[in-house]
Amino acid sequence: MVDQDRIERGSCFCGKIVAHVRGEPFWINYDHDDDCRKALGSPLTVWIGYRQEQISFRENTPKTFSKTPGVLRTFCEKCGSSIGYVDEGLPAEYWLTIGFMDNPERFKPEMHAFWSMKLPWVEFADDLPRTPGYSRRRDPAIGDPSTRARERR
Ligand SMILES: [Zn+2]
Repeated sequence: MVDQDRIERGSCFCGKIVAHVRGEPFWINYDHDDDCRKALGSPLTVWIGYRQEQISFRENTPKTFSKTPGVLRTFCEKCGSSIGYVDEGLPAEYWLTIGFMDNPERFKPEMHAFWSMKLPWVEFADDLPRTPGYSRRRDPAIGDPSTRARERR
């Protein structure tokens, strides 16, 4: 059931960054990849995929950090909370961390991405699909972040 009037609120730990998000996310996935593990400080995360135009930040906007070419990670400059992920290989998409959402229980993952990097003691009893890499199709002309990183090294 698609609800275009759905409004979700996201906020960082200190409350400086607040966003209102309209409509349904197009994708929700677990992510076991090691870059996100480092960036978020968590053994795994859940990403919530929205179109950029669905998200409106209120008074303050997040800061950005890029280690990998074409990838921007966003965070609160005051408290350090991870907020999102933007990737030129996924045009017009904005991925929010589950921890940023004020009602995370409403977002149910549909797949496990980067199952190949899952920590050995993390176990799941679900029957969701598991894929060794990205759970989203990417534009092959742009490549994925690991390819871009190798090219520019
Ligand atoms: Zn904050």
